[in-house]
Amino acid sequence: MLRQIVIIGSGPAGYTAAIYAARANLRPLVIASSVEFGGELMKTTEVENFPGFPDGIMGPDLMMKMQAQAERFGAEIVYDDVLKLELDGEIKKIHRGDGTVDEALTVIYATGSEYRKLGLEDETRLSGYGVSWCATCDGAFFKQKKVAVIGGGDSALEEATFLTRFADKVFIVHRREEFRASAAMQDRAFADPKIEVLWNQEVAHIYGDEKVTGIGLTSTVDGAVPAGTETTLDVTGVFVAIGSDPRTHLIHGQLDLTDLGTIAVDGRSSRTNIPGVFAAGDVVDPTYKQAITAAGSGTVAALDAEHYLDALPADLIARATAVPA
Ligand code: NAP
Repeated sequence: MLRQIVIIGSGPAGYTAAIYAARANLRPLVIASSVEFGGELMKTTEVENFPGFPDGIMGPDLMMKMQAQAERFGAEIVYDDVLKLELDGEIKKIHRGDGTVDEALTVIYATGSEYRKLGLEDETRLSGYGVSWCATCDGAFFKQKKVAVIGGGDSALEEATFLTRFADKVFIVHRREEFRASAAMQDRAFADPKIEVLWNQEVAHIYGDEKVTGIGLTSTVDGAVPAGTETTLDVTGVFVAIGSDPRTHLIHGQLDLTDLGTIAVDGRSSRTNIPGVFAAGDVVDPTYKQAITAAGSGTVAALDAEHYLDALPADLIARATAVPA
């Protein structure tokens, strides 16, 4: 079945693109991922800065509303993963995990970003056994425990504040002596008696045979302690919140990337180097990475796709619009 538009990704960028494309009668198919549908906001708690919700809204609720809004106008959503893309030529091919191959005249690529890892050997081994990237998913396992959150951005402070609901003590381990997080997040963390910040420290080891039992910290300040000196912090949970990188593995060798690893687009548009392929959200944004900027970027992609389709030969459009209702 040839479609006018396939959207890959179901975060704020993907769903907003779907709302616009559906309202333009393009009957978009959204490939939402089998596990991570709804994107990063599914793993967050209260979103206080998305316009229109003066009392805040829970991240998963916001994503459900976006999905419902896209479906209301006729977007079709499938919970599957894209395994391979063939983007050259007028008709793009999207290979899905269940063996389906979707064909489309345009593709909006909005796959977001993935969590950074510390790069320690034991981090992967103990993942799910004390090492986590998601406090909202795993925080409840740490009732009355001591945990460490690694990082100094909004994510780290948000995770730390959330974890105080369960843990007795939350250490924030940061490699510098000032946070990059917003003032509001910092104020909240500093005011919380359960949170203690360990400045100028980095994680050298994660200890534990079957479960995390502690982490080894070293100083990042030259000469502060004798080189190689490690202090051990007894924690049973380690929450890694050191940022994220654009999820681009599916398009390597096909779409051009910027020096920062995001997909290169033409000016303020969503146009990639391949005609008919548009990119939106965190996958093009090395700087702002907000739900609202991703939503705006999804709008741009849907409008760009619409304009591209307007210029295609009528016979091709006729084939793609012959989708059964
Ligand atoms: P981020 O702003 O890039 O911060 C990453 C933090 O991790 C930085 O403090 C960084 O240290 C540290 N870090 C990076 N690599 C490290 C490593 N290998 N070892 C130790 N520490 C490391 O990422 P983020 O906190 O995930 O936030 C990403 C974006 O989402 C931001 O724009 C943020 O505002 C937004 N966000 C917003 C909200 C909200 O508004 N509710 C919530 C979460 C995130 P340095 O500071 O030294 O570089």
